[in-house]
Amino acid sequence: MPAPRRYVTDAIVLSRFDLGEADRVLTLITPGHGKLKAIAKGIRRPSSRLGGSLEPFAELSVALARGRTFDVVTEVRVGHAWLRLRDTLEGAATAWYLAELADRSLEERHVAEPQYALLHRAYGLLDAGMAPGRVARWYEMRLADELGQRPEVDRCAECDRVLDPGGQFRWVPPLGGVLCERCPGPAAAHTGLGLEALKVLKAYQRLDIEAIAALRLPDAVEREVEAAMREFMRTALERDPRSLAFLDEVRTRPARRPAPAPQLTAQ
Ligand SMILES: [Zn+2]
Repeated sequence: MPAPRRYVTDAIVLSRFDLGEADRVLTLITPGHGKLKAIAKGIRRPSSRLGGSLEPFAELSVALARGRTFDVVTEVRVGHAWLRLRDTLEGAATAWYLAELADRSLEERHVAEPQYALLHRAYGLLDAGMAPGRVARWYEMRLADELGQRPEVDRCAECDRVLDPGGQFRWVPPLGGVLCERCPGPAAAHTGLGLEALKVLKAYQRLDIEAIAALRLPDAVEREVEAAMREFMRTALERDPRSLAFLDEVRTRPARRPAPAPQLTAQ
């Protein structure tokens, strides 16, 4: 039986780019159809019915008609908008980063229910005001799990010995996690990992989100964990997320200075 020509799905916009005079191509994540590209024809005309609803940071209900290159958006309804997520630039930039990680980790047209649920939850947490860095680390850890690349933080990734808290650790993402001091690892691997950072990585794997939100951590440890997880995701996805440059930039700006909203553009 051929697939129906028209279908309706929940979707979150991951990225978009303008095409021609008035069209826009969107990358959507959907639970049942996975990642897909769709075209919104004429959306940049003031008279467009699709208008402002086909935006990122919202759960949409989208009607699509199958097309040759891209499916065509025929109708959009906003199911749930995470409006407060945009209140801070760091929140919006983090949301963009999470969308990019989802985009990079998914193949088109493969069912993506867990990844969809994960992004949905992360946006809800950002919207509820949870610290963007905590949401990002929580999301990275669970996305790595979904990719079958859960970081090893309990045993040495090379010799499989249980890590001794009194030992020295190195963080070696190409090997899947932490190395003990006895294992040489690859020649270039000299990224030390402090015991506190290792404990926090374990906490991200074991604790629920409420417990993670309540952790009190020194800035230096948060930064170490951030660097470790970013490096891990870069290795897992085999590329540098482009949104990180923007995220790092907004965090160094004075809080009140107005800045343009992040543009979700694709290559
Ligand atoms: Zn070892």
